[in-house]
Amino acid sequence: MIEYSLGTLPFRDGVVFLFPNHLCCNCGKTTDLTTIHQDTRRTRYMLGGGTEITFKLPLPFCKDCAPTATRRPKSLLNWLLIFIAAFAASALALIIIGDMVLNSPLIARYLLPFSVMLAAVPCAAMVLLMRPKGKQTSYFQPVRIPRLKQEFVSGAVTAIGFGFSNLAYAKAFALVNREAIAKKLVTLEGI
Ligand SMILES: [Zn+2]
Repeated sequence: MIEYSLGTLPFRDGVVFLFPNHLCCNCGKTTDLTTIHQDTRRTRYMLGGGTEITFKLPLPFCKDCAPTATRRPKSLLNWLLIFIAAFAASALALIIIGDMVLNSPLIARYLLPFSVMLAAVPCAAMVLLMRPKGKQTSYFQPVRIPRLKQEFVSGAVTAIGFGFSNLAYAKAFALVNREAIAKKLVTLEGI
């Protein structure tokens, strides 16, 4: 994995952006804000490895939303691994209970559907717990980088696209960065 940080990775001329700091980038609150360098990663998987680029984005957070700055969004692969772990733990627990406690062949016969059902419980609980609170727009990092164009050899960034969970913050961003956005060097993306 190769890691870059904002500042070390070269940006081509015109690929400049500023983050508005007058409202919380998650809930939109305008008081008690602090700038947190949100560790934002973009991973590219390739045959035999991949690259990971880390951007430290200086973003305004209120006290309640500060923890969301460090919560990386979960990918489909993350969720799949969580489910597999829950499934394996459920199957093991059912084998032990069925064999040693109940001494019943029924559990062994229906091990697969029982394990899937049992594994769904902690996964559903996680989904419920990971909902944004109050006026928050995301439980996870509210600013992401869904698009990144780089030069093949140098890795220099030729265009970058940001996604925002908070619409008001996205609009404020669009306003201060209108020049780079007009040139399509900086774009707004959905997340
Ligand atoms: Zn907030």
